[in-house]
Amino acid sequence: MDVDDTILLNDYDWLESPCSTCGGAFCCSYLPLCDLSVETRSEMLLMADLCWFEGLVPVLKDDGQWQLFYHEECRFFHKAMGKCSIHGTPLQTEICRKYSPYDCWYKNAFTTAETDTLIRFNSERIEKLISMMLFDENGVIQKAPPWIDLQRAFYEIPYIKTTVPPPKELMKKSVGNQDLFLFPPGKPRKPGHLDLIKFRLGFPGVMVMISPSLWCFAIPALVKLMVPENFKELLLQQLANGVYDAIIMGISDGERDTLHAGGYQRVTNFGLITQQSGINPVIFNPDKPEIVVS
Ligand code: SF4
Ligand code: SF4
Repeated sequence: MDVDDTILLNDYDWLESPCSTCGGAFCCSYLPLCDLSVETRSEMLLMADLCWFEGLVPVLKDDGQWQLFYHEECRFFHKAMGKCSIHGTPLQTEICRKYSPYDCWYKNAFTTAETDTLIRFNSERIEKLISMMLFDENGVIQKAPPWIDLQRAFYEIPYIKTTVPPPKELMKKSVGNQDLFLFPPGKPRKPGHLDLIKFRLGFPGVMVMISPSLWCFAIPALVKLMVPENFKELLLQQLANGVYDAIIMGISDGERDTLHAGGYQRVTNFGLITQQSGINPVIFNPDKPEIVVS
């Protein structure tokens, strides 16, 4: 459904809520994809490579965990109105409906590029971070600077979105290409997982890969337009060789092999998961907390 076809609610609750003065709607434009495993200098450099793909933003959280976000506005976010176009309707997911703006993690985390909660990274910032860290002779991280030093250092290297997003048409075409990043989780096991699928499919470019036994999320690997051709080839070659799989957590080698071998469906519309012929129907039996894929 196009946003234009949806109902725009002049919702009193919304006007009263912190969302009306948020200024960023970060919850609708930063989708968490997966944790990253980053323990060595070379893994930090792989993470720097990810920054050259459209939408991928590595962040360091205050607990020391690296996480990968997809920076792309949900298709239901109405830019002109600055709010969700399906707010309070049955089209909205439970995830969105139940999220409390009065206790919002996103607002604290994303208001600036280096908050007390997380720091956003681009490749330049990762290079700077590498220069501030101690590694052993095998390149394993030994010591990282305190958070306050990181915040100070990165004030001087502004985080900016380095390119405009690719045209929506290109995103649609790329759904069929072979250059993909795969992300967890796998097969849905309870209704909440279906809601997560519906939520993620709201973000342009996200698709679900489905085979009889394996499921995962995927996004197209679109190298930013500004990247020189020879570097672009290197990045895509490394992607095809599975080099980045080393740091993207939550997908097993077996799952990757099966999905890369083919024999799966790519689904971009939640309704198609249960409706389109050729896609295995997903049946949830409330008496049995398992989702049966037949
Ligand atoms: S939920 Fe949080 S991030 Fe989202 S619009 Fe409201 S205040 Fe902003
Ligand atoms: S559906 Fe959810 S993520 Fe999308 S615009 Fe609405 S509140 Fe934001």
